[in-house]
Amino acid sequence: MYNIVAVSFGEIFLKGKNRGSFERKLIDQIKYSVKDFEDVYVYRDSGKIFVEARNEDMDEIIEKVRKVFGISVLSPSIKTVKDPDEIIEKAKELFGYLLEKKDIKTFKVRTKRTDKSFPYKSMDFSALVGGKILEKFSSVKVDVHNPEVEIFIDIKKDCYISSERIKALGGLPVGSNGRALLLLSGGIDSPVAGYMIAKRGVEIKTLYFHTYPFTSERANEKVKRLKEILEEYCGKIKLYSLNMLEIHKAIRQFCREEETTILARRFMMRLAEKIALENNMDMLITGESLGQVASQTMKSMAVIENAIEMPILKPLVGLDKAEIIEISREIGTYETSILPYDDCCSVFAPKNPLINPKLNSIQKSENNLNIEELIETVYSTMEIL
Ligand code: ATP
Ligand code: MG
Repeated sequence: MYNIVAVSFGEIFLKGKNRGSFERKLIDQIKYSVKDFEDVYVYRDSGKIFVEARNEDMDEIIEKVRKVFGISVLSPSIKTVKDPDEIIEKAKELFGYLLEKKDIKTFKVRTKRTDKSFPYKSMDFSALVGGKILEKFSSVKVDVHNPEVEIFIDIKKDCYISSERIKALGGLPVGSNGRALLLLSGGIDSPVAGYMIAKRGVEIKTLYFHTYPFTSERANEKVKRLKEILEEYCGKIKLYSLNMLEIHKAIRQFCREEETTILARRFMMRLAEKIALENNMDMLITGESLGQVASQTMKSMAVIENAIEMPILKPLVGLDKAEIIEISREIGTYETSILPYDDCCSVFAPKNPLINPKLNSIQKSENNLNIEELIETVYSTMEIL
């Protein structure tokens, strides 16, 4: 039935001078989402984007394109030449198909004509096509105010006939709103945090801290897999990984045990900020949620953030764990996130972590460490996965 999908995008970002670049970003992202199909073409026709598929499965394509941020609605459509008789035939065919799927009592036809050389006015053509449908399907009636089904005929350079509308994710196309570095662990929260910020048009790269040999290759694989799931929404994502071992050893040797988590997290922020600055990213992203664990109290977060100047986005800060889990199920990261693994934080976690850390005593402990040297040592372990 369908041979093409019409892509509608939110109105807000269409205004103004950025429209062209938003559309190009969106097209790039759509192309990436269907890269594994052979016979698929993405193009623009009079202000709308279309994904045309010749010998491919339309449902599979819709499944992929639906994940691209910046799309409000997808309309599976029939593309035809701009010949009135041909359009009437296809409209009847579409109506018959819809009637098989569900019992329809009322309908209307709506025509939009961007190409004014088409020989009928919109209203007249809608009436003509509506009449032909009534002739063929005697059980249905026209209702122009509240129809159960609308057949939409969009006459542009080509003609597109549609009826079904599939709600997409909304948001802004990735790449239209700057770049940020996501601290990606193997847990439930950080992939969700990355998803939420990417949805606002931010291009993300990811950073993972391991503590090999205390953390395993399996933990790496898990983070890689989470990154791949995010790529279905965001396009290609770079993954940096660093080995925190030397920092953990130094903290264990020279500092008080209950301060371990806060100290380690301050180092993570410094390293993340360094990578972000060197790679043209403006902010960090974490999956922190207020009060969830000791290192996520107001006081702990304040002391951790104090280590760097770069802003940290925490899109989950006001969500409950149950709400975060719900999103992670929807976006498809949950099943991977709950696989068992050895997080570097759990390996070196103190029995009684501080929940009310004092900045000056943390700074005093850091005086026992050679911060610059530790940063350099860990930074030199960087791998790009
Ligand atoms: P998550 O479910 O994302 O692992 P969490 O509830 O376990 O989060 P923490 O371990 O305190 O919370 O981590 C808070 C945030 O710090 C994470 O959401 C993530 O952004 C970052 N983070 C923690 N551990 C790592 C790691 N090993 N590598 C990269 N980022 C990390
Ligand atoms: Mg974690």
